[in-house]
Amino acid sequence: MTTNIILLGPPGAGKGTQARKLTEDRGLVQLSTGDMLREARKSSTETGKRVAEVMDRGELVTDEIVIDLIRERIQAGGSGFIFDGFPRTLVQADALRELMEEQGQTIAAVIEMSVDDDQLVKRISGRFTCGGCGEVYHDTSRPTQVSGSCDDCGSEQLLRRPDDNAESLRTRLMEYYKKTSPLVGYFWREGKLHRVNGLQSIGNVSADVNRLMEGLSEREAL
Ligand code: AMP
Repeated sequence: MTTNIILLGPPGAGKGTQARKLTEDRGLVQLSTGDMLREARKSSTETGKRVAEVMDRGELVTDEIVIDLIRERIQAGGSGFIFDGFPRTLVQADALRELMEEQGQTIAAVIEMSVDDDQLVKRISGRFTCGGCGEVYHDTSRPTQVSGSCDDCGSEQLLRRPDDNAESLRTRLMEYYKKTSPLVGYFWREGKLHRVNGLQSIGNVSADVNRLMEGLSEREAL
């Protein structure tokens, strides 16, 4: 069985960046509810419009909508999932446990990425993403090598998220501390919680995450 893990942390902690690295380094499958919702909001249905409004305000989308999105992906089969931005509430965590059990799978570990609030603000306010391949950049700490085009795929579609602004970020942080941070205790009680210092460079965080993954594979092989 391939290991399934959860990346837990506030907006800007680096979950998406590390999830992308894990897909490249270990062939794991990134399941980002944020990406799924950004896709869903493009539709002109009532749900699409509601999702867009909620996301732009920085609030959490209803449990029902995100659980439906994740259910579809898990029931489609496969393993080796990195849950990036899911679960974000206790209801979602319980739903995930049930969905995984139905498929005879488990969550091997939850990696909590911790970063100070003032760093999160700095990271998010300079963040932009390639619309072609999803690579994440930052105005000062990780600019593209050639201005205006992605280093990885060459796309010139470089985008800033509408919710990456000071006001939405404040709401997103509040939502995190109120609704998502209780999951730290939830997974700690299950003996699944691991912590990584998200203030380090991308490479060092990735090295810590990979060390952790090696430990999990060894345990699985026993
Ligand atoms: P992210 O890309 O993970 O930062 O998510 C962007 C936005 O999508 C969040 O601020 C929420 O509005 C919404 N979202 C993503 N994942 C979830 C989730 N698991 N539960 C509720 N809302 C979510």
